[in-house]
Amino acid sequence: MELRYCNTCLFPETKPDLFFNEEGVCSACQGAKNKNDNIDWVQREKDFYTIIDKYKKKENEIGYDCLIPVSGGKDSTYQVYFMKEICKMNPLCVCFETTNLTELGRQNIDNISKMGVDVIYFKKNYNAYKSMVIEGFKRVGDEMWPNHLGIFTIPINIAVKFNIPLIIWGENPQLEYGGPVESLENNILNRRWMEEFGGLLGNRIQDMVGVDGLTEKDLSPYFYPSDEDIERVGVVGLFLGHYFFWDARKQLEIVKQHGFSVKEDGPVEGTYTNYENLDEKMHGLHDYLKYIKYGFGRATDHACIDIRNNRLTRDEGLKLLQKYEGRYPNESVNAFIKYSGMTKEEIDQILDSFTNSMLFQQAEDGSFLKDEEGNLVRIFGFR
Ligand SMILES: [Zn+2]
Repeated sequence: MELRYCNTCLFPETKPDLFFNEEGVCSACQGAKNKNDNIDWVQREKDFYTIIDKYKKKENEIGYDCLIPVSGGKDSTYQVYFMKEICKMNPLCVCFETTNLTELGRQNIDNISKMGVDVIYFKKNYNAYKSMVIEGFKRVGDEMWPNHLGIFTIPINIAVKFNIPLIIWGENPQLEYGGPVESLENNILNRRWMEEFGGLLGNRIQDMVGVDGLTEKDLSPYFYPSDEDIERVGVVGLFLGHYFFWDARKQLEIVKQHGFSVKEDGPVEGTYTNYENLDEKMHGLHDYLKYIKYGFGRATDHACIDIRNNRLTRDEGLKLLQKYEGRYPNESVNAFIKYSGMTKEEIDQILDSFTNSMLFQQAEDGSFLKDEEGNLVRIFGFR
């Protein structure tokens, strides 16, 4: 079986929401070309400053000018740098703690407050969250499910409570990773966006009520605020990546000068870079789940961005995929065993249930073939 790949980058046809044009170029590459050639960034920059001026408090007024959801990652560190140093705003940062925080992640969150901003660190109900992690893993094949939800709902709930109408998000993921054409022009993150693009895989918070006896009350922070509340405060969430050319590697150099630390002892599990997903011990499992469903993971995402930004040739990217993509995530699985109390066999069984039989070889009894390192055997080749 041969997958169809983009002629320009390394995205396969199996990627959800990806479309190819007549020349065999994917919508993410078309978006990137548009980003380079057609978008009037000077105008967009002006638009941005006009908008935020409306939200900026007066010199002597008490309060926050905007809210920034932060994870301590390079993007959120950049958002803080940009809003504080360049826009001269006083942001309130809100961190929704990840599932299984690494030491490096802790350092990078601490660093954000050292950039001269206030941070609300949301320490969640461990039990309720853990129930959703395990249920998300079993039900939709994503152990990060409650995290995807909480990183949106908790900052928005806090924006409503603190009466802060302006929320500043980072990249527009559809512009960076591809999405339906109409989504490329989108500048706003709202409830509809979250439900469509937030990675929730069709599972809603209401669907978690009853899991391990969870009630709606237990899950309060994961519910999106009501339309009335959103309207009363006038909450609007803007993507910085809509108004300014988003270049992760350039931003990385800037945030490093502002105290952001990368992983010094090699790449993050599942990819070849060392600057992203540093905060979560089990992120490799999340990326691996994407790989077993669709045949591509985080290494592909990174290679495609580097190709589009002319930092890699397609051939160089291909070599990186052959080395890093789709390897069984031992570190993450070990961390998940400790966290969840599940055995490796139970975890592997669930992984198998989400493995795409069109993409990976099976034995006659239907079990998936694995090499001596536990990696699945691909039917398709990266090309
Ligand atoms: Zn492409």
